[in-house]
Amino acid sequence: MNDTVVVTGGSRGIGKSVTEAFAAAGYRVALIYASRRKEAEKTAESLRERGTDAVAYLCDVSDAGQVRRVSDEITQRFGRIDVLVNNAGIAQIKLFTDTDENDWNRIMGVNAGGIYNMCRAIVPQMISRKNGRIINMSSMWGISGASCEVIYSASKAAVIGFTKALAKELGPSGITVNCIAPGVIDTEMNAELDDETRKELTDEIPLERFGSPEDVAGAVLFLASDQASYITGQVLGVDGGIL
Ligand code: NDP
Repeated sequence: MNDTVVVTGGSRGIGKSVTEAFAAAGYRVALIYASRRKEAEKTAESLRERGTDAVAYLCDVSDAGQVRRVSDEITQRFGRIDVLVNNAGIAQIKLFTDTDENDWNRIMGVNAGGIYNMCRAIVPQMISRKNGRIINMSSMWGISGASCEVIYSASKAAVIGFTKALAKELGPSGITVNCIAPGVIDTEMNAELDDETRKELTDEIPLERFGSPEDVAGAVLFLASDQASYITGQVLGVDGGIL
């Protein structure tokens, strides 16, 4: 296997598990992070120690110029990009009436704009090769909506519409586009939840536990695999049955 995967937000949390799953499957890995250089370099280093060709790239996915530059750098370094995993995301828990336009612009800019920027930069080379896989990270809140997470929910609903439309447009070019809608996954994103809230959430999950980053990574790898070659435009829930 000589294929290359790009994983945004690949330095920690779900994205880190995604890089590990793809590395174990023989992919070469380019991971993108926003600011925490030490953590990103550590993730890339641990992949290299296991024999994977892996490089970490600093890039704010909400910045189209940075995305274009880094995508070109990755393409030059690895030769081509076969799989794009748009996983980078930010969350915010706030009453709607406490939010302002800066919150809207920042969250939409990263969660929805980041996916647009990455696809805009990388899709042309996939079209030229008539081959490629794109997997976007939505959320169950993008389907059901969450109180005190209006902007986040809107951004994740946008990911679903984007995925379905792009899948239709890119199907004739041999490219599949799908998204994952995780439920509650045990990462730093949920670190602020107190014990009571964790228990309440767990009680709502039929499988009676938070998901792990590995649970999500397995689904991402499946959507990039040959077994998923006839699946496109879909939203795969990885949520322990909560929705
Ligand atoms: P984490 O907060 O643990 O990790 C976020 C990752 O995204 C980090 O690598 C971070 O880089 C990177 N990142 C954040 N902003 C940017 C940016 N502007 N440009 C580039 N990279 C960025 O998140 P999770 O692993 O929990 O979540 C991953 C994805 O899954 C997100 O899209 C999230 O919305 C989604 N999701 C998560 C759920 C959960 O319960 N955890 C549930 C449903 C969906 P750095 O380390 O440098 O900050």
